[in-house]
Amino acid sequence: MSDRPIPLRAVRTAAKCPVCGKEVAASYRPFCSKRCADIDLGRWLKEGYRIETDEGSPDDQSGGGGPTGQER
Ligand SMILES: [Zn+2]
Repeated sequence: MSDRPIPLRAVRTAAKCPVCGKEVAASYRPFCSKRCADIDLGRWLKEGYRIETDEGSPDDQSGGGGPTGQER
């Protein structure tokens, strides 16, 4: 129970970028740059996706001999 992601509320008070640990920029709080904001957002989206869809990722890597995924 210690592998929980840091809640944004806690990050808000921090003065360091949660992604790289640099000083945050007022324009990109609570991140230091748009890049870090994007990275963090990506992580969130990924995790949310996993939690929401528990059926596995869409097999769109290399069609061929995949599991039976018949969608009418
Ligand atoms: Zn950063």
